Amino acid sequence: MKALLADLKMFVKTARHIESLCRGNLFLKLISAILDSVQPFVNIYMSAKIVDMLLSGFPMEEILVYVGITVGLHFSINMLNRLLWYFIRVRDNLLNNNYSRSKKAKVAELDYDLVDNVETQKTLNKIFQHENVNNGGILLFYYNAPNLIHQIFTVIFSVAMTFSLFVSPYPYVGSGVTKYVVTPYFGAFVLLLCVISVWISVHCSTKRAHYATNEWQKFTFCNQFLSSIFTVMYAAAGSMQVRIYNQKKRLLDALHVNAKMADAIGENISRYQLKHETIIMGITETVMQIVLYTFAGLGALVGRFSVGSIVKYISSILQFTNAVAAFVSILELLRYNNAMSKVYFDFIETPSHMYQGSLTVEKRSDRNYNVEFRDVSFRYPNTDFWALRHVDLKFNIGEKLAVVGMNGSGKTTMIKLMCRLYDPTEGQIFLNGIDIRKYDYKEYMLIFSVVFQDFKLFAFTLGENVATGTEYDEERVKACLVEANFGDRLATLEKGTKTYLYRNFEKDGVEISGGEAQKIALARALYKDAPFIILDEPTAALDPIAEAEVYSNFNKIVGDKTAIYISHRLSSCRFCDKIAVFDRGSIVQVGTHDELVADVNGKYHELWNAQAQYYSDKKEGCIAPLGMVEK
Ligand code: ADP
Repeated sequence: MKALLADLKMFVKTARHIESLCRGNLFLKLISAILDSVQPFVNIYMSAKIVDMLLSGFPMEEILVYVGITVGLHFSINMLNRLLWYFIRVRDNLLNNNYSRSKKAKVAELDYDLVDNVETQKTLNKIFQHENVNNGGILLFYYNAPNLIHQIFTVIFSVAMTFSLFVSPYPYVGSGVTKYVVTPYFGAFVLLLCVISVWISVHCSTKRAHYATNEWQKFTFCNQFLSSIFTVMYAAAGSMQVRIYNQKKRLLDALHVNAKMADAIGENISRYQLKHETIIMGITETVMQIVLYTFAGLGALVGRFSVGSIVKYISSILQFTNAVAAFVSILELLRYNNAMSKVYFDFIETPSHMYQGSLTVEKRSDRNYNVEFRDVSFRYPNTDFWALRHVDLKFNIGEKLAVVGMNGSGKTTMIKLMCRLYDPTEGQIFLNGIDIRKYDYKEYMLIFSVVFQDFKLFAFTLGENVATGTEYDEERVKACLVEANFGDRLATLEKGTKTYLYRNFEKDGVEISGGEAQKIALARALYKDAPFIILDEPTAALDPIAEAEVYSNFNKIVGDKTAIYISHRLSSCRFCDKIAVFDRGSIVQVGTHDELVADVNGKYHELWNAQAQYYSDKKEGCIAPLGMVEK
C-alpha cells in the first residue's frame, strides 16, 4: 500500500512537471481519453434502442430519427476528438522540445565539476537509454497516463450500463431451464463469474507486464552497447576509424547479435502472452459469453428486459473486463516507469553545491584587476591524488605570464580553478583581495577570455561564433579575425562573417581545419575583450608559419590585458614577463626566461634542453618552431 501511495505521488509529480513543460496538453489528452470511452457506449446504447424499436414495430420515421441521432453523435464525438488530436499533436512537439531542452538547460547550469563527473555522465546515459526503450520516463507517462483514465471511464460507463441486468425484478417462471436461470441466485452466480473473470484477466495482465518489463530490462544493457556503436559509426571521426581499421564487419556483427537479442526478447514476450494470457483469457471470455447470453437471452424471453438490451449488457460486460485488464497493465507499466522518471528528476533537481556568491565585480576602466592564488590545493572529484598542491601565485596587472610544465603537471587545472569551474579543495583564490567564491559567477566570468585546448565551435555563422551571439559588431568581428591571423581565409569566404561553419545546418557551410578553428577560437577570445586573456596551447593546431605570426603579434594581440599563456614550446614563452614552471601539481620555479634557463639544476633548464634536441640550432638552445620570425 505504501509503495502504491509513493507511486501515485510520483504520478502527480510527473503530471505537474509535464504541465510545466507544456501547459494544458495533458488536460487535452484527458478530454480525448474520456471521449474515447464514451464513443463505444453511445453506439452500444443506441443500437440496443434501435433493435428494440424495430422489434416493437415503431414507425420507420421515428426509428430513422434515432439512427440519425446515433450517426450524428458518433460523428460529433469523432470530429471533436480529431480536432483535439490536432492540437495535441502540435503541442506534442512543443512538449518533446521542452523536455529535451530541460535536460540541456540543466547540463548548462550544473556545477561544472558535476558535468565532469562520471556519475553524472552515467545518469545522462541512463536517461537516454530509457528514452530509447519505449520512450521510458516522463514521455512514457505522458503517452500512457491518459489511457489509464480512458480505462477508468470505460469501467464506470460499463457498470452504469449493466446495472439493470442484475437489479431488474425477476418475474416468477414456473418451468424448464428458465426456472433456474432467471433467478436472483443465477444473477449472483453471473456476478461472481464476472468477478472471477476480472480477477483472471488482472492476474494474467499483471504477470505478463512483469514478465515483459523483466525481459526488456535485459535489453537495457544491449541498448547501451548499441548506442555507443551508433555514436562511433555515425560520427565522421568514428566512421574514419571504422574504415582505416576495417571495423565494419565487427561492428555490424555486434549490432546483429544485439538485434537478435531484442528479437528473442520480443518473441519470448509474445510466447508468454499467448500461453499465459491470450489462451486463458480467450477461454474465460467464451465461458462468460455463454453464461451471459443465456442469462440475458432467457431474461429477455420472459420479459425481464428488452431484446435490444442483450447486446447492451454483453458488449458492456466485455468492455468492462477488457478495461479492467488494460487498466491494470497500464498501471503496472507506469509504476515500473516511475523508476525511469525518477532518474530524470534526480538529474534535473541536482542541487548546486558550489558557493553562490552575489558580489558584483567592480567595473574598472583601468583594468586594475589582481588575481592571487594563496596556498591552493585541488583534488578532482572521486580521485585521491592532488592535481595541484600548495600553489601560490599572483598575477600583476598587464603582465604576460607563461605557464610551462610537462603534461599532467596541473597547468590547465590551475586555469579551471581560476575560472571557478571548480572550487579549490584547500586554500583560496582572490580577485582584488576578495575570495572569488563571493562574486556572482556570471559577473566574475566577464573578466576572463579563455581559449581552452579542447575548445568547441558551433555550427552557427562565423560571426556568431566569434561574437557568441546573434547580434554583433561586424567590423570588430572582422578585426578580431584578422588579428587572430584568419584574415586571408576570411577574404576567400563569399558570405564573409555570415558563412556557416560546418554543414550541420547549411549545405553551403564550410568545413574548417583544426588550425583555422583555433584561429577562430582566438578571435572569439579577443572579441570578448576581457581584462584577462588565457590561452591554453593556443597554437597547437597551427602550422609553423601561422604559429610564428601569432607569436610575433602576441603583444599586439593581447594589448594591455593580463595574459596567461600555457605552452609546451618554451621558446614561445620568451616574450612573457614571467614564467611559472609546474611540476607534479606544484609551481617549482618562477622567473624570466633568462633567469630560469641559467638555473642549470632547475626544471626549466631540463625542459629547455630536452626540447632543444629536436631543433637544429642546439648551440643557442633555441627551440623556435620552424618558420618563426625571430626578432
Ligand atoms: P596539464 O594541463 O599540465 O597537462 P592538467 O591540469 O590537465 O595538466 O592535469 C593535472 C592532473 O589532473 C593530471 O594528473 C590529470 O590526469 C588530472 N586530471 C585532469 N583533468 C581531470 C579530471 N577531469 N578528472 C580527474 N583528473 C583529472
